[in-house]
Amino acid sequence: MPLEKSEAIVLKAFNWSESSRTVVFFSRDFGKLALVDKGGRSLKSKRGRLLPFARLELTFYNSEKETRGYLAEIELIEAYSFDKEGTLGRLAYASAACELLNLLLPEKQAQGSLYEYLCSYLKFIMEADRQYLPSLFLTFFLRSLSQLGYHPSLGFCGGCGKTVNADSATEHHFCPQRGGLICGACQIAGDYYIPLSPEDLRLLAALQAASLSEAAAVPIGYQKTAFLQDALVQLLSYQADLKAQLKSLEFLAKLKNSQTME
Ligand SMILES: [Zn+2]
Repeated sequence: MPLEKSEAIVLKAFNWSESSRTVVFFSRDFGKLALVDKGGRSLKSKRGRLLPFARLELTFYNSEKETRGYLAEIELIEAYSFDKEGTLGRLAYASAACELLNLLLPEKQAQGSLYEYLCSYLKFIMEADRQYLPSLFLTFFLRSLSQLGYHPSLGFCGGCGKTVNADSATEHHFCPQRGGLICGACQIAGDYYIPLSPEDLRLLAALQAASLSEAAAVPIGYQKTAFLQDALVQLLSYQADLKAQLKSLEFLAKLKNSQTME
């Protein structure tokens, strides 16, 4: 196996014995990458510490076959710490992003710009005032969906392509099965629609186009966040055929708990 290097962030780790585990990384140069960490859980391991929410420089044996490669060395580049006010919420929003990418990223396909985007997202989650964490997450969610091929249509009807005027006073209809908004003429009886108020739609469309620093100036209440988040999760469950996995997603429950506990 060739020895390779790449910067990476941990998405998930599975322990499979007292001392060993498989770690799934989002690496800058190789995309999603699952590596065997033999003996890494042992205190005697000399290969450097594996930290969550940190930019790590990995050295690893890259497998070109079906089998997993092996982790050789880890060097810390930058750790994101969430000890500012609202720690629980920060942790929940940081793990939600990693959980989402673990589900959505295809294996071994470099996604350099999305990797950089995750790094800046974690930095914003570390530094932003806690009232802006929900809009940062929604913005991250929308961007990841678009980047990975599940772009929700919010500016036009997914049936006929007609532009939808977000400023009209009437309610809009968001259809998870059909990938976004559907105009009155294209609605099909029996399909499931989530009603979006003009205000909801303006907010979603604004976040879809927002940079993280723009999102870090938009306060959104918990109820509103939960509602919009749920609409996006439903879209994802249809579009990415992830129904079963999304059901088991713990991040929504974690976000809820962190909101009620703080
Ligand atoms: Zn239409």
